[in-house]
Formats: sequence, structure tokens, C-alpha cells
Amino acid sequence: GHAVVLQEIDPSKLQITRTSTPSTLPSTTSLPFGIHHSDHMLILSYDPQAGGWSAPEIKPYANISLDPMSSCFQYATSCFEGMKAYLSPTSQPLLFRPDMNMARLASSVSRLSLPPFDTSALLELIKKLVKTEEKWIPRDEQGKALTGYSLYVRPTMLGTKSSLGVGASDKAILYVICSPSGPFFPPVLPSEGKVPGYIKPVKLLAVSEHVRAWPGGTGAHKLALNYSPGFLTQKEAERKGYDQILWLRREGREEVVMEVGAMNFFVALKRDDGDIDIITPPLDGTILPGVTRASILQLIQSDPTFFSSSFSSSTSSTTTSTSSTTSTSTTTANTNPTPKLYAHETPLTMSQLDTWHSQHKILEIFGVGTAAIVAPVGAVSYSSSLTSFSSSSNNNNNDNDNDKEKDKTQTMDPADIQGVGQ
Ligand code: PMP
Repeated sequence: GHAVVLQEIDPSKLQITRTSTPSTLPSTTSLPFGIHHSDHMLILSYDPQAGGWSAPEIKPYANISLDPMSSCFQYATSCFEGMKAYLSPTSQPLLFRPDMNMARLASSVSRLSLPPFDTSALLELIKKLVKTEEKWIPRDEQGKALTGYSLYVRPTMLGTKSSLGVGASDKAILYVICSPSGPFFPPVLPSEGKVPGYIKPVKLLAVSEHVRAWPGGTGAHKLALNYSPGFLTQKEAERKGYDQILWLRREGREEVVMEVGAMNFFVALKRDDGDIDIITPPLDGTILPGVTRASILQLIQSDPTFFSSSFSSSTSSTTTSTSSTTSTSTTTANTNPTPKLYAHETPLTMSQLDTWHSQHKILEIFGVGTAAIVAPVGAVSYSSSLTSFSSSSNNNNNDNDNDKEKDKTQTMDPADIQGVGQ
């Protein structure tokens, strides 16, 4: 036989079809995250029977028609990226470190055993799309960049093999859509009595009953299936008055901190010498390797005073409340005008945070990610489910819990099995 050479993504074959009904960018006051879409999308497909990757197309934003048997609907062969296009000082569109998003998408695609793609070819096409959609990057009346506003770009890849067979999809579609977006957490207006640019801190509920990711799992990849199981947890947290989940994972008698909703977790600690330790959990396979996380670590490493001004007059701190105690902020202002920052990738546990909190060492807790950029954390509420930690009274009766567990166990009565009729 002869070897079949499958077509790679070929940007020179791009076909652009412009919409005949262009829309306009909504007013900047109505740009909540991820609601609006721009006029066009990039789309291409992979089919080994059709020779590999199709010619890429930029075409009017439209519905996609797929076989109901498609792998993505049945087995969640779906992964995505989140990146942003900003305006440069000369009003040119700029993507923030898109090579890192391409590399992460390639690793997600590989984890799902979807067909591989050429990351630099896709990036070339995304640049063409962003150029086509340039007017969708929000700007002020002078056409200049607006702080906190950007065009969010969402590459998505789906398995489209039409088969209920449980197995890898050798067919796929890859598309990229754009969403003009304002600040993820809208800043509070000066009229509300706060300084300009003040961002309302988020309240976190620390959760270990539901687990987002675990060793050997898929937490380090941006797979759709990592997100939907958290929606129930998030909704319950919102019902109780919290903004986001602080995802924990039990390890022996400890609860290990992983991420803040869809953001990486950071804590800033005051050192005895007046400098500051900035700590984030290591990339141990349970944590998404965030582009923002990597950028913050790199900035601190290349210039330890880069973020000093963020801390030199810091008077805020995060309140940690356990089920038994609620302590208010007692951390004193950092008096060093140009503290040096030291970045660390170190595992963090709730008991460690609790200790630092009682020692008044915590200057800030914050979440970082493309959507929110940096989100200050105002409070962490935590009720340990481990008997060895926290003085919570409802954790001391394990035996009763086991009995309850037994009571819930049901056996199936064959008489309950019902036919479906003729
Ligand atoms: N963690 C999770 C679970 C996320 O979904 C995201 C958003 N991609 C992040 C962290 C932050 O990553 P990035 O800085 O690349 O947006």
C-alpha cells in the first residue's frame, strides 16, 4: 500500500466570507463577561476520510449542525481556551501570550485523544480572525484602549465522530469565537464611596465534599468536563451568599488548596524582614497551568519590586472564618515602602492558611486568570470535614455518620424492574 499524507491546517487556504448584516459593538456599560459575540467565527474540521484538516474559513457567526450521535454530545470530547485581545497604545490589536494558550489547547486535545493540530498554524488563523473582528475590541470615544475591556477569544475543539461506541473520536471541529467583554468583576463606582478602580473583593466558600480535580485526573487540562460538575457546587455557594468556590482536595488529614473557581490561587505573606512571600500551589497535575499565574510568577522573578506598590500601602487583608470562629481583619499595614516580593510554588493546606491567619501574616489572598485578571479575596469561609482539624462540633460523631450511611443503602427488589411495554 501507500502512505496517506493527511492535510495539516493550512492558513494559506483561508477563505473569508464577510457578513452582509454587520452588527455594532454594544455600549461599554452593557458588556458583562461572555454574553455578546462578534460578527464572524473561524471554523475548520478534521476528517481522516476527507484527507485531514479542511480549508479554514472565517464566516458569519452561525449555528453548527452536528449528528446527535457526535462524540462531543455523548462523551464530552470537548476542550477550549480563553484568551484576550487588547488594544495597544496605538490602537492595534494585541493578543496576550497566545502561544501559551495554543500549547495548552494542544495538550487538552491530546488528553482527549482528539486529532492533533499545528499550533502555529492555528495561531496565524486566530490573528486573522482578531484582525477581522478588530472593531469589536471595546474602546473610548478617542478610539483608545479602555482599562478592563477586551475582546475575549474562545477557541473550542469538539469530537464529532458519529458513533455511540465508547472510544476516541477521529473526527473533530475546531472553531474560534469572540466576545467583547468588560471587567469580570465590575469596579465599584466612586459614587459608592470607594476609590476609583476599587474592586469589590470576592467571598469564597472552601469546599472539599465536591472535588474539582485529583492526582491522575484531568485538572491540568482545559476540558469542558472539568467545569460542569462544579456548577451545582457554585450555585449552592451563591445561594449561601458566596461568589466563588475555593476548591480543596483531601490528602491524608490535610485539605490541600487547589484553585479559586476558574482562577489560580495566590496568597501574599508578610515576612519578618518586611519583604513579602507570594505563594501559589505547584503544577502537580491537579491545577490548571494558568497563563496569568505563569506571568505573575515570571514578573516577580525578573523584578522583585515590580508589584511593590500594590502592597506598600496595603491595609486590607482576607478574613478567614471557620465554622466555629469568625475573626475580622487584624493584619497591620505593611510599612516597608518598596518590599521585595519572593515567588514560591508550594503546596498550601487549609491548616497552614489558618495558622498564618492567626499569626496575622496574610496580607492578601487573590485569584488570577484571563477573565478576571486579578481578583482580590475578601473572605474565605471554611468548615472542615476532617475530625483532626477545626473545633467544629459536628465532626466528632463519625460512628453515627457511618450508621446513617448504612441506613441510606438500598437493595434493588427485582419486582421494581419494569418493562417498557410492546
Ligand atoms: N484555573 C482554571 C480552572 C481556569 O479555568 C482558568 C481559566 N483558564 C485559570 C485557572 C486561569 O488560567 P489563565 O490565566 O490561563 O486564564
